[in-house]
Amino acid sequence: MNRNGNGNGIDGLIALNVEHSRLFCSPGMALARRRYRAEHPTEIGVLKCMDGRLNLPLITNTALGIIQPWRNIAGRFDLGWIAFQQSMLEWTSYAIRRGRSCLVLVTYHYSNSSDHRGCAGFKYDTQAAKAFAAKLTDDFREVFGSTVVYPIQIGVETDLDALILHGEKGEVVNLSEFFDTSEDGVARLLSRLYPSMPPQIRRDFAPLVIGNIGHVADIRMQQRPLTDAEHQEHVIAVGRGFDWLHEANKAIIVGPFDPDMRTAIVTAGKIVADNVQSGRVRADEDLVLMTAAPYRELAGPEPWLAQKKAIFLRDFALQALGEEVPDLVPKLQHFAARVNMGTRLMEVLSRSA
Ligand SMILES: [Zn+2]
Repeated sequence: MNRNGNGNGIDGLIALNVEHSRLFCSPGMALARRRYRAEHPTEIGVLKCMDGRLNLPLITNTALGIIQPWRNIAGRFDLGWIAFQQSMLEWTSYAIRRGRSCLVLVTYHYSNSSDHRGCAGFKYDTQAAKAFAAKLTDDFREVFGSTVVYPIQIGVETDLDALILHGEKGEVVNLSEFFDTSEDGVARLLSRLYPSMPPQIRRDFAPLVIGNIGHVADIRMQQRPLTDAEHQEHVIAVGRGFDWLHEANKAIIVGPFDPDMRTAIVTAGKIVADNVQSGRVRADEDLVLMTAAPYRELAGPEPWLAQKKAIFLRDFALQALGEEVPDLVPKLQHFAARVNMGTRLMEVLSRSA
């Protein structure tokens, strides 16, 4: 068995979702989340690579439902993409209507120990990944300003899961080398790095920083073997509504924002096929394609549109994989689902077996 647990395919994923939904809805968790949101009202979004090792809630010790993820191959996004700009506009408008600010974490990732544990989507070129994130951060600032919506560039070093904070004036701090976890120490660090960041956003970012310093200490204590920091994903997830999938290195998630989503899906398929071929995924582990779409409104067209979207994404992904990674498809179980964002419960609409 690998560290992701036994691979019991679709039923295993459904069971995982049911358990996370149960926790998400439990009075204790729901009230704690509500109080956290009252204390830390800033909406936090993260733009990240589809790489299954990048699990921001996990590596910042943050409860489910606080950080909103946007995923794409290599963390590549373009504010010109129609679906992406619409999504960002909806998210920021939602926050602003409620009097909240938005913190946008624009991420890239790399590994200290080996270039080849870096970002496959950037052909392991960390400088290119970093430059892309810097440019995207600037694009956000150009479009949204930096008062109500505040974008920052963040690196993730995946050997230790450490965040790399890029300051406004070019200073870079690797949190695996920062040990002052006191609130004052972190507040001083953030005001030095981000002097123009509104104080409320700084206060709401601080718990993620403290959480990451704690997580890195845990990883160091466990002396996690580096093989665990390599690709081991055996699930391809396409769509949105996967934040209940709170396990590192299990799934490659492809968001629906990229006009060239087909390439992203095919890349995900090739990574999973390679994980199997090189023995990083056990031979008897089930390989799964899962497509999903979220909805918030219970009445009206929204749940129906989510259903249509999940089924469309399934057919689209199966066709792309069938054409480009044909050996993988016969080994894939697949299912389509919609996710109620009020409960995070997934409703399976169709499944292969
Ligand atoms: Zn990547």
